[in-house]
Amino acid sequence: MSTAPGESSATSADPIEVDPYLARQVADNIESVRRSIARAAGAAERGPDDVTLIAVGKVQPLERVEAALLAGQRVFGENRVQEAHGKWPNFRSRYSDVELHLIGPLQTNKVREAVELFDVIQTVDRPKLARELAKEMEKQGRRLECYIQINTGEEEQKAGAAPAEADAFIAECRDDLGLPVVGLMCIPPVDDNPALHFAMLREIAKRNGLEKLSMGMSGDYETAVELGATHVRVGTAIFGARDYG
Ligand SMILES: *Cc1c(COP(=O)(O)O)cnc(C)c1O
Repeated sequence: MSTAPGESSATSADPIEVDPYLARQVADNIESVRRSIARAAGAAERGPDDVTLIAVGKVQPLERVEAALLAGQRVFGENRVQEAHGKWPNFRSRYSDVELHLIGPLQTNKVREAVELFDVIQTVDRPKLARELAKEMEKQGRRLECYIQINTGEEEQKAGAAPAEADAFIAECRDDLGLPVVGLMCIPPVDDNPALHFAMLREIAKRNGLEKLSMGMSGDYETAVELGATHVRVGTAIFGARDYG
């Protein structure tokens, strides 16, 4: 990928300078989210270690992501292959134990790059993509944990397998294609009560013998943990609002 002028620091292995005040703020946010997760887990008679916090750094300045790394955070989510490609090689060269999850839609022409770059693909949502992923993982000799994304709200504009087709699609991915399917992921409709969607996801996972549930974002991760989330994807509550300007 070409590097635009002024972006060279993002591709070198140099550490990114972090303002001490910002570093403190991001560390405090992470700590506070972790405490809330522990509280919600406790309420559901689960342990805090049963839940993995995925920090979603999309669109955030690199300095904030570096601050999270300095605070000890190692599991991250990105929703675009291109953006992740521009920033993670640098971070990874300095933090070798990072685990990177793809949490956004994946186009088949980006599958090769995604398999090179990520450790986990959370958005397997259609047969064509599943087939391409299986082929590419075979080719690269890399087996990435996969989650099947379920469109629990059956929203037209949203990715994910329809709930009624979930069992068949999971079986196709796992049994026919041999993908390492470990769990399910969902993004509830913004105006719905998320608990209903989390409960539905848990039910589909249970009847298919899948253990991992990626559900819950800044606004509803505690509810998700109470309903069995093993992975929560939190952006704003850690990094502050995203600036799309
Ligand atoms: C951006 C994003 C998140 C994080 O959202 P916040 O509300 O900022 O916590 C979680 N999951 C997915 C799929 C996302 O795209």
